[in-house]
Amino acid sequence: MAKNLTLSCEFFPPKTEKGIANLSAVREKLVPLKPEFFSVTFGAGGSTQDNTMDAVIDIQNQHAVTNIDAAPHLSCVGSSAERIRTLLDTYRNNDIHRIVALRGDLPSGMQAPGDFRYANELVEFIRAETGDFFTIEVAAYPEVHPQAQSAEDDLINFKRKVDAGANSAITQYFYNIDAYRYFVDNCQKHGIDIPIIPGIMPINNFTQLARFSANCGAEIPRWLRKKLEAFYDDSASMNAFTVDFLTDFTQQLIDLGVPGIHFYTMNKVDPTLTICDRLGLIK
Ligand code: FAD
Repeated sequence: MAKNLTLSCEFFPPKTEKGIANLSAVREKLVPLKPEFFSVTFGAGGSTQDNTMDAVIDIQNQHAVTNIDAAPHLSCVGSSAERIRTLLDTYRNNDIHRIVALRGDLPSGMQAPGDFRYANELVEFIRAETGDFFTIEVAAYPEVHPQAQSAEDDLINFKRKVDAGANSAITQYFYNIDAYRYFVDNCQKHGIDIPIIPGIMPINNFTQLARFSANCGAEIPRWLRKKLEAFYDDSASMNAFTVDFLTDFTQQLIDLGVPGIHFYTMNKVDPTLTICDRLGLIK
């Protein structure tokens, strides 16, 4: 295993008893990866925010046994400073020391911008309120955030989050190594020196992935799109292909010298576990 390579896994908060039991079983199977943290997403302006709290407290309660940190995502759009302060207090009282700080996207039709416009303002607020208590991760976009005026503007805006006190960044998923390489080079030229951890997104359902990618600005390269389309409803063959592809892709990232790998698990054990097993990442 590459020296000092950190792993982390992301989950979404389950809403039902069945979902909670499933996530608990998934987490247990991923413990052998010894990830640095398990993170849980947070629905901006949504009704699942209490589920995020429950899930991270559950992760943190097992910290003494697993040594895996809990990292709640926290999106600020549509939120008041008072609400964020309350959440930070609750995390602190539960000994949670990590936060993935985001702007978030409000569900369509919802307006209320709240007290924060951008994630850099949230990072500033967390530092002002809690000093160095939290390790703060922020989002980065090797293929440029869809609302950015330009790649250069996006990089400057990314730097604002770093200057505000972010410790590390996790990227939006991408399937084009050059985009990551170019982005990291450019960050270095702009004096950004925090770790930029690539996010790996599994491919389970091509239609869903294509729709999501169009919204978040992640490109599916033409060759990959054609390949995935050709599987039609043969999900077994598609899964076998995508695990091979993602294993190879992750290895290429490790060869580049990335500081870590973040898996968007989609609350499933595989392909995360299989990829890590094949690459000898199980410690
Ligand atoms: P920002 O960094 O604020 O950037 C948003 C846009 O505004 C960019 O185009 C940027 O260039 C521009 N911008 C930033 N700062 C300024 C400024 N000061 N002035 C002018 N323009 C500016 N969403 C959720 O709702 N919940 C989650 O749990 C969640 N988890 C995520 C985890 C990861 C690892 C990633 C990569 C994304 C996640 N998202 C989540 C999605 C994220 O919230 C969206 O991509 C959102 O549109 C942008 O969030 P951000 O924190 O990157 O925003």
